[in-house]
Amino acid sequence: MNRRPESYVKPKLVPSPQPIPDLSFVIPAFNEAGNITRTVAKVDAHARRLVSSFEIIIVDDGSLDSTFEESRALCAQYPLRVLRLSRNFGKEHAIMAGLESTVGAAVVILDADLQEPLFHLETMLKHRAEGYEMVYAVRAQRRDETWRKRVFTRAFYALLNIGGDTAIPANARDFRLMDRRVVDALCALPERNRFMKGLYGWVGFRTKAVAIELAPRATGASKFGFAGLFKLGLTGLTSFTAWPLRVWTGIGMTIAACSILYALWIAIRTLVFGIEVPGWSTLVVAVMLLGGVQLISIGVLGEYLSRVFTEVKGRPGFIIAEDFSADREHL
Ligand code: UDP
Ligand code: MG
Repeated sequence: MNRRPESYVKPKLVPSPQPIPDLSFVIPAFNEAGNITRTVAKVDAHARRLVSSFEIIIVDDGSLDSTFEESRALCAQYPLRVLRLSRNFGKEHAIMAGLESTVGAAVVILDADLQEPLFHLETMLKHRAEGYEMVYAVRAQRRDETWRKRVFTRAFYALLNIGGDTAIPANARDFRLMDRRVVDALCALPERNRFMKGLYGWVGFRTKAVAIELAPRATGASKFGFAGLFKLGLTGLTSFTAWPLRVWTGIGMTIAACSILYALWIAIRTLVFGIEVPGWSTLVVAVMLLGGVQLISIGVLGEYLSRVFTEVKGRPGFIIAEDFSADREHL
């Protein structure tokens, strides 16, 4: 038998000493070639003033423009690491790809379009020093948005917080400072259907909100149109609420109770006044209403089932195609 000699000692891998930066920045970027250079320069300038060491991680979320090339060119100049995802996986997954690669004692998530004024970083760090483990930005107002977006956003957060045990604050941004403990907790969550704003609330910790005013986008247009936000909203609702599944029991029971009462009323009326032939319109309305209600409930079931299906498949949320930084080999 081929046995190892008793004296065999497994060689220890000595990790190369890697200093832990005070702060890691995670910047998801999708078609941000027009913004990325300025964003990195600004982040660098603010970070230099506030902490003694930091790293910036740009996650290129399958951009079709030169975001990756522009970002890579900045690596020589800044403490920068650029991850290129193999395709566009969406902002939530891009954020996760970035978070999983951070090593800093605290992490800041930041949009690449500089809509969030960076001077708030100082306040955020101050709150962290006071003991808050997550300091997040909330929009002070949404007056610049269309009424349709405002109505839907308000309705969405109201629906999201019905009977939920996770309080998910409305108007919160992804722009936030998180302690390493919070980041580790987020990275340990196994789910594929990621609604980050819900997950930030779910992990808990001591949190503090900072009100900010959003600047207009530096260049380019928002990547989140109505359809994109609607899809994200569905992911949020299905991952954080169960009431849309349960509500059908109540609706079914109410309709059943009404139909029993109606049947009783018809029986009594027939006994008293005799048989009445017309009534097809009532029938048509009843059949259509019930058909509609049943299809909606099946649709809701399907929505949840499709999320279960995604989870069961167990595919990763993102694939990193390239991992680039000045001091590493091009992987
Ligand atoms: N983003 C991304 N993947 C996407 C869409 C957006 O990484 O599929 C990034 C985008 O580059 C930006 C951030 O997410 O850094 C916020 O996007 P955007 O400014 O379009 O959203 P808004 O500010 O309108 O909410
Ligand atoms: Mg933006």
